[in-house]
Amino acid sequence: MSTAAVDHTPLRAAIAGDVVARGEPGWEAARQAWNLTADQRPPLVVFAEAVDDVAATVRFASANGLKVAPQSTGHGATSMGDLAGTILLKTSRLTAVSVDPAARTATVQAGALWSDVVAPAAAHDLVGLHGFAAGVGVAGYTLGGGIGWLSRREGFASTHVRAFDVIGADGEAHRIDAASDPDLFWALRGGGGRPVIVTSFELELFELREAFGGALMWPIEQAEEVVEAYREWTASVPVELTSTIKLLRFPSLPTVADRLRGRALVSILLVFTGTEERAEDLVAPLRAVAKPYLDTLAMVPGSALGQLAGDPTNPLPALGHAVLLDRMSREATEAFLALAGPGTDPPLTSVEIRLLGGALGEADPDPGAAGPLDAEGLVYAAGAATSREAEEHVLATMRELGDRFAPFSGQRDTILTFDELRPMRDAFAPEVVDRLEAITRERDPDGLLVANHVAD
Ligand SMILES: Cc1cc2nc3c(=O)[nH]c(=O)nc-3n(C[C@H](O)[C@H](O)[C@H](O)COP(=O)(O)OP(=O)(O)OC[C@H]3O[C@@H](n4cnc5c(N)ncnc54)[C@H](O)[C@@H]3O)c2cc1C
Repeated sequence: MSTAAVDHTPLRAAIAGDVVARGEPGWEAARQAWNLTADQRPPLVVFAEAVDDVAATVRFASANGLKVAPQSTGHGATSMGDLAGTILLKTSRLTAVSVDPAARTATVQAGALWSDVVAPAAAHDLVGLHGFAAGVGVAGYTLGGGIGWLSRREGFASTHVRAFDVIGADGEAHRIDAASDPDLFWALRGGGGRPVIVTSFELELFELREAFGGALMWPIEQAEEVVEAYREWTASVPVELTSTIKLLRFPSLPTVADRLRGRALVSILLVFTGTEERAEDLVAPLRAVAKPYLDTLAMVPGSALGQLAGDPTNPLPALGHAVLLDRMSREATEAFLALAGPGTDPPLTSVEIRLLGGALGEADPDPGAAGPLDAEGLVYAAGAATSREAEEHVLATMRELGDRFAPFSGQRDTILTFDELRPMRDAFAPEVVDRLEAITRERDPDGLLVANHVAD
């Protein structure tokens, strides 16, 4: 059906939220995603104010030959395409969070950011399994697996979802847990969100009043010795310690802190959830490599973990590319240095190797579609696409990254949350993608609900 022919007045009348149609004032702002590389041009943008609005939107789309793409922040929107014939359903007003301290769970609506969960959880010395940046949405992160500061200790964030409230492609509300619908419960824990729209999550929380965390940074000229020391060090660190090593190029912008502006640095960023005394012992070999240019390691409140990485919070035109590393081998770290180490000038703000392993590789508790993950590291590169030319340069360097690291990657080559431009077949074993596709075909045979990932 031509979208021009669709009369959206009944939808506008049926919902508590707002409907903004293409051509109306406000459409330009309404269609915007956090990631400014996304050029979403849907015929309608719906801002759901209530769960019933989600159901009404699905029913309206079904009756009018449209599709529905749920989005909380648009952090993962690069791959969404122009959304012709698709209603962009923004859940960003559904942000209610309630914490049950006795059960150590949080019930979180689908439009909440992780930063909306942090304070209510911290009031009870609890934390959720958010990623390095708390400005990211709970929904896309958790539905895609979610790898954060406690992942080596606890596994994927999606492993620790107790239940989902969803609206199905039938427009009806369902509660999905391990007993009610084991197949869909498995799929939603890491498979990306299709074939439903989640309206709220019941998430496990973890006791953490404080942790040891922060960064060590050296000039990039010292990267060779720092990277080799890091590689050796990662072989023996406990699962309570999560870390990443980054080769960073800070732009010469006034928004960048004085001590970082315009600098090229090698940085080790880490969090340890044991005692300060043990933490000091653990990081001593890193501090001994060379005197750091910056050393911010200290005990911090559990509520501060989502700011430690200094990741951007304001909308950006960002491109990312990820490759899983089977092992943290010397050949892999040499490829890392050859791509972005001393003497190179890549158009990337950051290239990192994040240490995985620990609980991410374990099958118990049942990790759902996300795991277990047999990979020691994740290479992730990010660059800014501030112009067409800059975008082409970044993409060419990311292709180079893919070629350089291909020899060190296994069957699962990427992670869903880190690489929405790549198909799901790169992120999962074939039998996992086939099972996810079969569940989607069964629950949403007409392909009504659109995600930011495609199977092939
Ligand atoms: C600065 C930054 C730091 C990051 N750090 C980490 C990190 O440490 N670890 C990590 O694992 N990832 C990280 N990511 C990646 C992030 O997890 C993904 O971009 C994720 O998709 C963001 O989720 P969102 O809800 O904010 O995004 P959105 O773009 O709103 O959602 C992404 C996709 O999720 C699905 N979805 C969203 N809402 C629903 C819903 N209600 N029902 C069904 N499906 C839905 C849709 O397919 C949607 O296209 C980071 C990203 C950025 C930009």
